Amino acid sequence: MIPALMPNYNRADLAFERGEGAWLYTVDGRRFLDFGSGIATASLGHGHPQLSEAIAQQAKRVMHVSNLYRIPEAERLADRLVAASFADSVFFCNSGAEACEGMVKMIRRAAHDGGHPERYRMITFEGAFHGRTLGMLAATGNEKYLHGFGPKVEGFDQVPYNNLNAVRAAIGPETAGVMVEAVQGEGGLREGTPEFLRGLRAACDEFGLLLGFDEVQCGMGRTGKLFACEWAGITPDVVATAKGIGGGFPMGAVLAREHVAKYLVPGSHGTTFGGNPLACAAANVVLDVILAPGFLESVTVRGARLAAGLDALVADFPSVFETRRGRGLLQGMRCVPPAGSVQAALLAEGLLSVTAGENVIRLVPPLIVPEDDIDTALAMLRRAAASLAGTEARK
Ligand SMILES: *Cc1c(COP(=O)(O)O)cnc(C)c1O
Repeated sequence: MIPALMPNYNRADLAFERGEGAWLYTVDGRRFLDFGSGIATASLGHGHPQLSEAIAQQAKRVMHVSNLYRIPEAERLADRLVAASFADSVFFCNSGAEACEGMVKMIRRAAHDGGHPERYRMITFEGAFHGRTLGMLAATGNEKYLHGFGPKVEGFDQVPYNNLNAVRAAIGPETAGVMVEAVQGEGGLREGTPEFLRGLRAACDEFGLLLGFDEVQCGMGRTGKLFACEWAGITPDVVATAKGIGGGFPMGAVLAREHVAKYLVPGSHGTTFGGNPLACAAANVVLDVILAPGFLESVTVRGARLAAGLDALVADFPSVFETRRGRGLLQGMRCVPPAGSVQAALLAEGLLSVTAGENVIRLVPPLIVPEDDIDTALAMLRRAAASLAGTEARK
């Protein structure tokens, strides 16, 4: 008989009842070090006192009023995001797919109302992931995810990542913009090179296109900058973000410069839940933490500590790990055995991780992870690698 909870996930047989910092505790009393963070989302870890308290307090006052009214918590959150970034204006929604979809709608609308009604196509990239709505499935272009869901939404032209010639060749009279991840999360932690990202900016400027970054996973401090595209020193036109922004509370955001945002006139786009007082109370605490002086620098420092340990594992266990990839606390290891078997070996050591494309194991601890926990995770990785290397050697 079919389970009451739809069977669309391959769930591990683990149920957590509470967490503290980077640690999660199961109902039956076991503890695990969480280097998955609910897929790069629990940015402040588990049981964060200020975050839990802000949500509890806001829940007692008022949770939801709709966007028919002013929402002071949302105004404050938007002000702070604008002050900390390239953006002039912010739209709040509830998930990554919605943020990406909103970004594409804004780019299309700005092209249309900006004097180019013929422009609606978006250039996207192989290995991308933009979410599971019908529109974002087409943008993602992964045949496995598209299978059986009918005709693909029109208007997305996919080209190889890190290939500027392919981008320039794909630009046509109907192209409105480009949507790109600065670091491909689900795709396997591939980084866009600074030359590539700067080249995208130059191509967009040359052809009058809009440049949108999907920073749902790599944004909100994960790489040591508020947004990962900052590492390339370029200014985007639009950014979509989600995952870590609410510290585990569901939220997404589209940040845009004025020349894009000004076309989002009343009635043009909307959401019932987006930016409600409860979500914004959570996100304001996330900003309190990640925008505090020195915090993003410390993500870079702790990320470098993790990366150095992972590099040592690649050197010591070439039969298990092929390469390390990623930036800051968004790290991945390309595996020699199936990434799923590496994930299982890590779980046996008490370490939670997430697999990604190209046979990569993702290590994305909460942004508040202390150095001690990084060292503990590296020791767990080393024990798992040693046991896997033994298995490989016996083959
Ligand atoms: C997770 C993710 C999405 C989709 O986010 P959902 O909240 O699952 O809809 C989109 N883009 C990127 C880069 C992501 O990592």
